[in-house]
Amino acid sequence: MIVVLKPGTGAEKKEKLIQWLEHQGMRVHISDGDYQTVLGIIGDASRLDLDLVESLEIVDKVSRVTEPFKCCNRKFHPEDMVVSAGGVPVGGGHFAMIAGPCSVETEEQILTVAKAVKAAGADLLRGGAFKPRTSPYDFSGLKARGLELLRIARAETGLPIVTELMDIRDLELFSDVDVIQVGARNMQNFDLLRELGHCDKPILLKRGLANTLRELLMSAEYIMAGGNEQVILCERGIRTFADYTRNTLDLSAVPVLHELSHLPVIVDPSHATGLSRLVPSMAMAGVAAGADGLMIEVHNDPIHALCDGAQSLRPEEYAKLSEKVRQIRKVVTA
Ligand code: PEP
Ligand code: MN
Repeated sequence: MIVVLKPGTGAEKKEKLIQWLEHQGMRVHISDGDYQTVLGIIGDASRLDLDLVESLEIVDKVSRVTEPFKCCNRKFHPEDMVVSAGGVPVGGGHFAMIAGPCSVETEEQILTVAKAVKAAGADLLRGGAFKPRTSPYDFSGLKARGLELLRIARAETGLPIVTELMDIRDLELFSDVDVIQVGARNMQNFDLLRELGHCDKPILLKRGLANTLRELLMSAEYIMAGGNEQVILCERGIRTFADYTRNTLDLSAVPVLHELSHLPVIVDPSHATGLSRLVPSMAMAGVAAGADGLMIEVHNDPIHALCDGAQSLRPEEYAKLSEKVRQIRKVVTA
């Protein structure tokens, strides 16, 4: 349920109402906008006397939220959420370019790529240290050493780092990571999501290979219900019967998620297509669809990459694309 307060409601009256609602066993999410305050009520609202709430002098209107997701619902938080990703704002008009290799391989590799994407204007560096791989015999990341190399690259370039956490037992190793990525395969690892709800880091939540948008939002809800509201949603392509691309980029996810939720939405055209030659077109399409950022795989030597070389852009290709993205952003925000 949401309760919209009349503009200019004093703090004392607002606090009194919140206390009363909490006393009835409700959890109250407060969204203070420029013009109005919206109280999102979580709990069994059937126990509340809605007519009574509606009749209060400070209440403008009361309505039910029928969707099962509450904390990530735009009705609870009408204004866009701006997530601070290691100091870089994402969402609410702030566009972020996240780039780097699929996996961190060597110091030379990550430094070369980090410097190149920084020179091309990237805002954050991505790189996997713990890699979910379909085959147990494939390279699965440098683990703690990979995180170490990311820290070195951050120190060299100043770019905050984004990297995937697969197992909550590794959380301690991630204490100075700027953004924790939850990969597509873990989107419904509910224990992991619940634990991340108690941490104070932004979470980049990727859509599962075969998950609906409602399921993606319910996963964000797991994190937010625990108190961590810093969630960035990522559309990375879903499984369809497409046979010439790795996945199908569901671009309509961007405006639909923006309608339903206040969370920032970014697009990953690399995993969506699986082919580097298709990445620029779909990256530009993502920007045109209103994405709040792009996450793109870049490798200095894609042919010899230990993971996802076929979909990785070379630094010069990334730089060229970045320039086009800047041009398209101008049109989108005009
Ligand atoms: C990745 O970002 O490298 C990755 C493994 O992505 P996804 O979880 O979307 O497959
Ligand atoms: Mn990858």
